[in-house]
Amino acid sequence: MTLFEQPVENAPREKLRDVQSQKLRELFRVVFERNRFYTEKWREAGIARGELGSLADLAKLPFTHKSELARAQDEAPPFGTNATFPAEAYSRVHQTSGTTGGPLRVVDTPESWEWWGRCWRFVLRGAGVTPSDRVFLPFSFGPFIGFWAAVEGVRQLGAMMIPGGGWDSLERLRMMRDLGATVICCTPTYALRLAEVAREHRFEMRSIPVRALIHAGEPGANVAQTKARIEAAWNAKCFDHAGASEVGAHSFECERQPKGIHVIESEFIPEVIDPETGKKMQPGEAGELVITNLGRPGFPAIRYRTGDLVRLNLSPCACGRTFARFDGGLLGRVDDMVTIRGVNVYPTAIENLIRQFSAVDEFQVRVKTRQEMGHLEVQIEVHSGSDAEDVRMRVEQAIYRALSLRPTVTVAPAGALARFEMKARRFQRLDQG
Ligand SMILES: [Zn+2]
Repeated sequence: MTLFEQPVENAPREKLRDVQSQKLRELFRVVFERNRFYTEKWREAGIARGELGSLADLAKLPFTHKSELARAQDEAPPFGTNATFPAEAYSRVHQTSGTTGGPLRVVDTPESWEWWGRCWRFVLRGAGVTPSDRVFLPFSFGPFIGFWAAVEGVRQLGAMMIPGGGWDSLERLRMMRDLGATVICCTPTYALRLAEVAREHRFEMRSIPVRALIHAGEPGANVAQTKARIEAAWNAKCFDHAGASEVGAHSFECERQPKGIHVIESEFIPEVIDPETGKKMQPGEAGELVITNLGRPGFPAIRYRTGDLVRLNLSPCACGRTFARFDGGLLGRVDDMVTIRGVNVYPTAIENLIRQFSAVDEFQVRVKTRQEMGHLEVQIEVHSGSDAEDVRMRVEQAIYRALSLRPTVTVAPAGALARFEMKARRFQRLDQG
């Protein structure tokens, strides 16, 4: 197996900590007194410059919330005070998709853009992509950073990049077949959508030589049933990857597919906390991912609360990497987690239950909670030719058996539920006190 950076990716964990320590020290040195946002934040928390020098000092720093970065942007528009260098040092601007709150702009210097591509190379190499691959990117190039970063990673790796923006799904399928695409990067939902379009048009999926799909934007690629469905439809392996505009491309799945993703610990420091109390969680316990990036000093994320739920696993992986893993990938958003009769239920668990029914084409879930009691309303679209009532009843029973709560499952007309090319929003949570 070829690892991207042998001395780092399979280094003993003490060596990894040395690498993190060294990069963190350099980050503190560059950021303190140059970056207005962090300097003010740390001063308010009573941190003196001399106090920051080691990995252990990280825990002294306050968490950074997305709302603070948004405020920092409003205070000094258009880019905000989280800037370590003068404006002319930056060469790229992107913005978040704005799924929570308004769009947040992020800026990169040429060096930090190289770093983005470098992190993406971990993702690509993790999925076994080599310079002889042809990577299809079915995106229109808006301001969302993930797509651009994928392009940079493919460029650095030296594989062929096939741009597929501005085409409809059928045209994209034909293009992949005609150009011999071997890798595709998209959301899990879009991979399933392409397979659905192929079925509608009697397009032969096996005529496309894709052997790896790299997914991000949603947890699906680590939801066992969704992964199985994508792999069967494409006759290829599907790999999960996670990142965020504010933070970087931080995690990837390796070829051993260990039911989780590796976090690139040479470029990021992950911490897992109880989202309510901020207390550190132990490996194996689910909590909120807090991340510090080490290669983007111009727009750093230091102890940034991602809002993503993860479960840390420090044991070595069969692939040889020592980078820690998030078991099950991103388990969902902290805000989407519901507690039903004392049990934490994540959207990915519900997705996994529904996706085991191959007759279900699409679904939507509404969770209503009232005083710790949850009620699930599920809408499903059933594949034509299947007995809709039978599928409906079986979905209802499967959820009841797994979660011990009786959902209301209804069948929506074909094509009635939203299809997603970007971040799917299949879960809606309504709190009723
Ligand atoms: Zn691995």
